[in-house]
Amino acid sequence: MAKIHLLDNETINKIAAGEVIESPKSIVKELVENSIDAKADEIIVEIKNGGKSLVRISDNGKGINKDEVEDAFRRHCTSKIESSDDLNSLFTLGFRGEALASIAAVAHVEVITRTANDDYGIKMSIEGGEIKLKEDVGCPVGTTITVTELFYNVPARKKFLKSDASESGGVNEVVVSLALSKQNISFKYVNNGSVAFRTPKTTNLLNTISSLYDKDLYNSLLKVEYEENNIKINGYTTNLNYYRGNRKQQVVFVNDRFIKHKRINYFIEAAYNTLLPKNKYPACFLKIEIDPWLVDVNVHPAKTEVRFQNEEFILNEVKRAIYKSLNSKSIMKEVTNDI
Ligand code: ADP
Ligand code: MG
Repeated sequence: MAKIHLLDNETINKIAAGEVIESPKSIVKELVENSIDAKADEIIVEIKNGGKSLVRISDNGKGINKDEVEDAFRRHCTSKIESSDDLNSLFTLGFRGEALASIAAVAHVEVITRTANDDYGIKMSIEGGEIKLKEDVGCPVGTTITVTELFYNVPARKKFLKSDASESGGVNEVVVSLALSKQNISFKYVNNGSVAFRTPKTTNLLNTISSLYDKDLYNSLLKVEYEENNIKINGYTTNLNYYRGNRKQQVVFVNDRFIKHKRINYFIEAAYNTLLPKNKYPACFLKIEIDPWLVDVNVHPAKTEVRFQNEEFILNEVKRAIYKSLNSKSIMKEVTNDI
């Protein structure tokens, strides 16, 4: 039997990358979250072939210091926490210092970045975790990261990538959910060279919804405003004139985090009782705020699952919130009210 030995760095990074980077959508999520943490208010997401041949995220955030660019791609290197004490008061989406190292372990990566303190920026490219080029460049303040050749060195993973349409559907969902949760950031999403959508910087969720969805949906929105039993549920749900054959337009956030929870979808639909045709589903955009102690979001950093302490209670509150707006006399949405 082989002796116990420490794995080399390249192998360690490849294994770790498998945890964080499953597909183009996880790359997009990690990179956009970095842009948000860097205080960007304009983010451009560009993909080609479902992200398999290209993912590029550009932001106007604070940029990375020249002398820190290499560190940013090292595993467990982060600017976001100093010690485990900081975990109790996190203000950033990231903190593990794993994303850039993981992406660079399984793809070709190019970063162009500049901070406001510098007159010119830096361009660095990494292949297989190795730096291939590092040079000064002229560029605006902010960061652009380009990822190509995804899983070129992990054939098993590459084989499991889905069709372009399916992968780009996944990326689309990530960008839509980030755009809906961060209304103060303008997002532009470019798929295979054409602009799929562009959201404005706004304080009003309706503006974001109207830039992401069609008129039919927009014209059917009812305001959801519910606060009882220490739970707040705000957002919009559609009236009985609007329905779709799938649940893709049901977007739910818990404490500002996009989640997927089948039973929440069922309880939303239960509020409609039998008023929608069979196998047809409403659209809704719900922001649920509850005591953070009652929800465990940390099932896995890259996942959208959550566990609730008192699931039945929360599900019933969601149903009541939807029921209340379906039954409210005023079906007019309050366009001027921010939520
Ligand atoms: P984490 O986000 O957990 O800190 P990452 O590997 O995603 O780990 O990023 C490593 C570091 O690189 C970050 O802590 C941050 O300092 C820097 N960084 C990454 N992306 C950006 C960006 N778009 N703008 C500014 N700094 C960035
Ligand atoms: Mg990160």
